[in-house]
Amino acid sequence: MAESEADLELESFRAEARAWLDANFPASLRGKGGLLGESRQAGGDDLRAWGKALGDKGWAVPTWPARFGGGGLNAAQARVLQQEMSRAEAFNPLNFGMGISMIGPTILDYGTEAQKARHIPPIARGEVQWCVGYSEPNAGSDLASLQTRAVLDGDRWVINGQKTWTSGAQYSDWCGLLARTDPAAKKHDGISFLLVDMRQPGVETRPIALIAGASPFCETFFTDAVAPRDALLGELNRGWGVGKRLLQHERASQTGAPTGGARQTPLPEIAKRYVGLDATGRIADPDLRARLARHQMDARVHGLTLARAAAEAKGNQDPGNTASVLKNSATSVAQTRAELTLEILGLQGLGWDGGDFSDEEIEAVRGWLGGKAMSIYGGSFEIQNNIVAKRILGLPESSQQG
Ligand SMILES: Cc1cc2nc3c(=O)[nH]c(=O)nc-3n(C[C@H](O)[C@H](O)[C@H](O)COP(=O)(O)OP(=O)(O)OC[C@H]3O[C@@H](n4cnc5c(N)ncnc54)[C@H](O)[C@@H]3O)c2cc1C
Repeated sequence: MAESEADLELESFRAEARAWLDANFPASLRGKGGLLGESRQAGGDDLRAWGKALGDKGWAVPTWPARFGGGGLNAAQARVLQQEMSRAEAFNPLNFGMGISMIGPTILDYGTEAQKARHIPPIARGEVQWCVGYSEPNAGSDLASLQTRAVLDGDRWVINGQKTWTSGAQYSDWCGLLARTDPAAKKHDGISFLLVDMRQPGVETRPIALIAGASPFCETFFTDAVAPRDALLGELNRGWGVGKRLLQHERASQTGAPTGGARQTPLPEIAKRYVGLDATGRIADPDLRARLARHQMDARVHGLTLARAAAEAKGNQDPGNTASVLKNSATSVAQTRAELTLEILGLQGLGWDGGDFSDEEIEAVRGWLGGKAMSIYGGSFEIQNNIVAKRILGLPESSQQG
């Protein structure tokens, strides 16, 4: 197809997307993506109506196959939809828990037709919440040391063990679980990936209270919990590969790619407001000015690298190891921005709540603290660097001699 013809088709899709958003996205929700809480229970009537419209259209998961409730769009159309969502300051309220970002794509990669037909449509419509049960008290970065056991007993798996840091487990209907199914095998070889119903007596969640009061994750206990034999995702004892794939999807969702919602106020504008200007009209503090310029450049480089990675992928949705580069780069940019914001706010950057601080100031402080987790979840900063060293640069294992 001639390029101009493809461009015309894309522009016609843009008009369709814009008209649909104008008709369906409630003005009352503009830029309020932050309304989304830890669970799907959050929000009022407008949010529910918007979620339903998006789910019915399949545009909460624009590139997933239409036969499973997705939008059936190609990558270029999905990018246009994203641009139009950003323009309208719209957001995706169905992207809660781990369903859309991690479990759904992994089921699409590895699931049987029956597993896809059962699990994908409810995720696409935002009807179920999923969590990911990987980490254990003695298995974090060294995930393959996990000890939770699943034993086949007739036609069902019986699961025993403890997970920890399970985000949103207390709200979840389902869990994507890594369990040891062959204790005699080498540690990476005896693991399987199971799709486990959380609503059963054998599953107990204990929310972990953080210093700031919130409990975004849980300790999760499996005591003779059960799952049918066909809850196995991928092959028996090959769950390590399935699990790594899910992590690539997780990292790909943490690259700082735009997701719609409110645009961030540019840092120089905040600095002008709080620090003031010198006689030449520049931000008054020269040291801060230099570090802001450096940050702006890093953020721009990250944005361009994201765009290059998307262009090189040529529509291929495979996240691959590049996601590790992008996750670390997005983390550095976001954490540096948060540090600089607090420095710029000065004393106003010390507020947790109370009338002496604006909502924006309190949000900046909470965002700064919450953002520390970015370099831990989905595999820590150092673990991503190890992946880049081994899988992209081809460097030897650190344990090797010489
Ligand atoms: C907000 C949040 C949400 C989370 N949600 C989930 C969830 O939903 N499900 C889930 O299963 N888990 C979840 N986790 C857990 C997360 O995956 C682990 O915290 C993470 O993998 C690190 O493991 P760890 O905490 O045991 O730290 P450790 O593995 O003990 O690491 C401690 C430090 O040592 C470094 N380190 C360890 N090994 C190496 C190495 N080989 N080379 C270099 N440095 C190394 C690490 O980088 C880190 O700085 C979540 C964590 C957070 C913070």
